[in-house]
Amino acid sequence: MTEAKNLTETFGSMVFDEATMKSKLPKETFRMMQASLHYGKRLDPETASVVANAMKDWAIERGATHYTHWFQPMTGITAEKHDSFISPTSDGKIIMEFSGKELTKGESDASSFPSGGLRATFEARGYTAWDPTSFAFIRDNTLYIPTAFCSFGGEALDQKTPLLRSMEALSKQAVRVLRLFGNTTDTTVKTTVGCEQEYFIVPLDLYEKRPDLRFCGRTLVGAKAPKGQEMDDHYFGTIRPHIKAFMAEIDDELWKLGVLAKTEHNEAAPAQHELAPIFATTNIACDHNQLIMDVMQKVARKHGLVCLLHEKPFYGVNGSGKHNNWSMTTNSGINLLEPGETPHDNAQFLLFLVAVIKAVDKYQDMLRISVASAGNDHRLGAHEAPPFIVSMFLGDELTAILEAIETDSLYDARDREMMRIGVHVLPKFPKDTTDRNRTSPFAFTGNKFEFRMLGSSASPASCNIVINTAVAQVLKEFADVLEAADDFGTALHDLIRDTIKEHKRILFNGNGYDESWIHEAAERGLSNYRTTPEALSHYLDEKNIRLFVDNKVFSETELAARKEINEENYCKVINIEAQTFINMVRRDILPAVSSYKKTLSDTIRDTKSVACWDALPYEEETLALLNKYSAAAFHTLRTLENAVSSPDKPKKNGALAAYCGEIIVPLMAELRCEVDALEPVMPREVWPYPAYGDLLFYTK
Ligand code: ADP
Ligand code: MG
Repeated sequence: MTEAKNLTETFGSMVFDEATMKSKLPKETFRMMQASLHYGKRLDPETASVVANAMKDWAIERGATHYTHWFQPMTGITAEKHDSFISPTSDGKIIMEFSGKELTKGESDASSFPSGGLRATFEARGYTAWDPTSFAFIRDNTLYIPTAFCSFGGEALDQKTPLLRSMEALSKQAVRVLRLFGNTTDTTVKTTVGCEQEYFIVPLDLYEKRPDLRFCGRTLVGAKAPKGQEMDDHYFGTIRPHIKAFMAEIDDELWKLGVLAKTEHNEAAPAQHELAPIFATTNIACDHNQLIMDVMQKVARKHGLVCLLHEKPFYGVNGSGKHNNWSMTTNSGINLLEPGETPHDNAQFLLFLVAVIKAVDKYQDMLRISVASAGNDHRLGAHEAPPFIVSMFLGDELTAILEAIETDSLYDARDREMMRIGVHVLPKFPKDTTDRNRTSPFAFTGNKFEFRMLGSSASPASCNIVINTAVAQVLKEFADVLEAADDFGTALHDLIRDTIKEHKRILFNGNGYDESWIHEAAERGLSNYRTTPEALSHYLDEKNIRLFVDNKVFSETELAARKEINEENYCKVINIEAQTFINMVRRDILPAVSSYKKTLSDTIRDTKSVACWDALPYEEETLALLNKYSAAAFHTLRTLENAVSSPDKPKKNGALAAYCGEIIVPLMAELRCEVDALEPVMPREVWPYPAYGDLLFYTK
């Protein structure tokens, strides 16, 4: 384990970062590389060759023998194909080689990755292209080069390509707006993201005994343990020694990779924890989140533990999310969501703030779609998770300020004048009170927004593509209006006021977990898509196509392909879960119940005949209960089996997803209820799986 004093040295020691580049590259090459990093300038082939060579020498010094183009296909995880640096020489020896071409572009067979129909129309080959803005790093003796993954026709087959496009779209429009405020020096605006990653840790030996955890990442059955999270004794509680050792190793690994792992604590549910890094530019934050998830899973195994990233591994306790903290920063470091000190800064802040409000209101359906997955369907709307409905929390103070602007009225009785944008300083609102409402899906937390609907296992790219593009679109509309205005001050004031008026329905400071909110949200006309198939059916609504096509983030073909992939993925997950469940009930659970029933009835028969007792309350009542519950479970099992193998099952993805959501998922829920009624009646030692209590409250 790294000593604290060495930390400053080991941090980023496995990363070919800017400081390393500076020391390893010729001056001119470094200058070109910087232009590429900060201003998106393309590198010419000669420069790329020099960079590749320096990168290789640096990597070999640190023990690397291989390199890989590391990319993020639509599977939700990362992919890599390793090549060694070796190249034969004429005298039968080898040299270590790595060319500029090998650094910048790789060929990859796209046919084994989800393409949503793009494969049928285009070549099966795909290519990976170096993303110089995300630094290369070394892991397990391999030089990892972050890349984008496209089809040969240039269609995005991954998460990074559209993410980079969405960042570019936002930067372009945000700079236009900044110019209107007299900022002539900043040339780019980058979005920033900090992901709080939640996860569960369970012992490996118990995990191995549960087919549902192994195949589905979540428990399909499991009666409640006597204790849940009702005592609130786990959140921020003392971290147990074995978890501490696991966390320490994760930090160590991540720090070497330049990931700013910062906060680690216990979460609300038993056996649940969280890791939050310090925020970074969005594409780097997304790469780092993939690394975090990968490192956590690998390190857990080394400690005899398993890290569960599923959104809802356990019924009845909290699920896991990935809170996506988001903001926008100029290249000179100005956070555009930081309320300033002067009327000018305040005005600029308010414009960017209402841009986000409008974007979230207008594209609330797309935000919901971006977090839709089979796993997250179990989490959203359940047990301390944000509901399916997208709304925004601003806090009472900021809401009151916006109301005053909207109605041209006094913010505070003590204020003599009305709030005039660009003239007045915003009344101070304390930062710490802005984060009180944990039930809001999209909360303003002082100088950033926190989007809480994203599931723990998802790639954060999915929601950030939507947030960036939606905000870019709104900023474009704002810039169009303001650039054409004769009087900027008046136009700005009116624009902010009108935007609040039109989009305030999305603002909600109340309790998002409350039943009454569902009715109120419906009255406000907010969308409420309860399942993934329902959400996905709105993917290609004209409004959404326009958003992505106009901002050059997705072509119509790419968008249709994404919808296909999401639906296909949903159907596959439900199918695996149903098959696993059927197997567990047929092969383990019902046989265990049956043999215990035999034990009971033998006991009843033998005891009665030998001892002539006329009543055996425990045995008789238990037998009756087991009979009742197992008959119900068997009946539902048969119905589920028929539904899964029905010849009438729809063939097309959209219809099949709807079938899975409407027929299979409810049947699994019903079966679960019946099986969970059996478990507490059965003796511990004959129940085939470790119980919730063992998984969640293990002592180690
Ligand atoms: P909480 O648990 O109270 O929501 P944390 O401190 O755990 O807060 O997480 C806050 C996250 O927000 C951290 O990852 C932090 O780096 C990130 N963050 C802070 N400022 C910004 C910003 N300007 N842009 C994006 N993320 C930010
Ligand atoms: Mg948070």
